[in-house]
Amino acid sequence: MQFRDLQKQYEVLKPKMDAAMAEVAASARFISGPQIKELEDRLAAWVGRKHCVCCANGTDALQLCLMAWGIGPGDAVFVPDFTFFSTGEVVSAVGATPVFYDVSPVTFNADAESLESAVELVKREGKLTPRVVADVDLFGLPADHEAVAAVAKKHGLLFMEDAAQGFGGSLHGKRNGAFGDAATTSFFPAKPLGCYGDGGAVFTDDDAMAALFRSLCVHGKGTFKYDNVRIGMNSRLDTLQAAILQVKMDAFEEYELADVNKAAQWYDEALADLPMIRPTVPEGWYSSWAQYTLRLRSREERDTVQARLKEKGVPTMVYYPKPMHVQKAFEGGERHVPCPVTEELCGTVLSLPMHPYLHRETVDAVAAALREALG
Ligand SMILES: *Cc1c(COP(=O)(O)O)cnc(C)c1O
Repeated sequence: MQFRDLQKQYEVLKPKMDAAMAEVAASARFISGPQIKELEDRLAAWVGRKHCVCCANGTDALQLCLMAWGIGPGDAVFVPDFTFFSTGEVVSAVGATPVFYDVSPVTFNADAESLESAVELVKREGKLTPRVVADVDLFGLPADHEAVAAVAKKHGLLFMEDAAQGFGGSLHGKRNGAFGDAATTSFFPAKPLGCYGDGGAVFTDDDAMAALFRSLCVHGKGTFKYDNVRIGMNSRLDTLQAAILQVKMDAFEEYELADVNKAAQWYDEALADLPMIRPTVPEGWYSSWAQYTLRLRSREERDTVQARLKEKGVPTMVYYPKPMHVQKAFEGGERHVPCPVTEELCGTVLSLPMHPYLHRETVDAVAAALREALG
């Protein structure tokens, strides 16, 4: 059993995929081939944004936003405590200070009240300038972007949506990637829309911002590549990855997104009578199910269940075992408000095998194994 079955996906897509890859190899336009612009236009239109700028990975995408906004030392960037390391890492990478706030126990995403208290903490202390709010579409479910946007607006902050796991999800009909002053995604292979290596993108409606992203990701170029007007980075998406993503995007639009939602429904049904908390998708929310994540009743139960499932050949993962504010890398260089929900989640969550190529029988087998593991 695979946690995320990328081999099966390749088997299904093989004829189109091999042709797309061979075309790039034959053209030898490995960097900045025409597939890049085609992909950017397609993704911008699909997400509902004016601009999409592809880059080397989802971490760079986040950093590009902070660089474009001139975020640096003395600035505070508000980041959920329950997320992948990158969301906070990029803040420290540009010399600013991450300020961690707590998440909702129901959606695992931004708790706007906790965010508000984090902004107030920074204002009260008076040492840092509040500049940017980041929220994250964890596990594919949109964050409550409307509530987060209200806090950002109230305090005059820029708003960055980290949709690395959220591509394909939507909130009240608006797709992830369309929220905030800028949004980012990742094409890491295991994400909802993944390539065959690293890749990422930034989305914005702002023309000037898009031009800045295009400059920053090619060494701060000016009118041409060897005219360098600012310090940037080397962060491009390879042509080969763009060609791969076109084939993947066809499958994603045609059936993958619908099928992964069907798999989630199967899990919901198969696990309905078990004593743990299944993921909640509130009314008006649509998830792209980067993960199907349960909450067990205690750390002991979670760890026991995970070990027993492993014995039965069912792969599971703990996303994430540590709150951001306790990561050693941030020691002495972060601020946070109390994050009891994140601490609780880190001790009790467990993600099950999840992908669009899951069969009903596999879901039932996982459910049976879980039932036994729970005793
Ligand atoms: C994966 C991920 C990233 C980083 O993406 P990469 O392409 O691996 O650099 C950032 N934020 C979140 C929430 C992620 O899950």
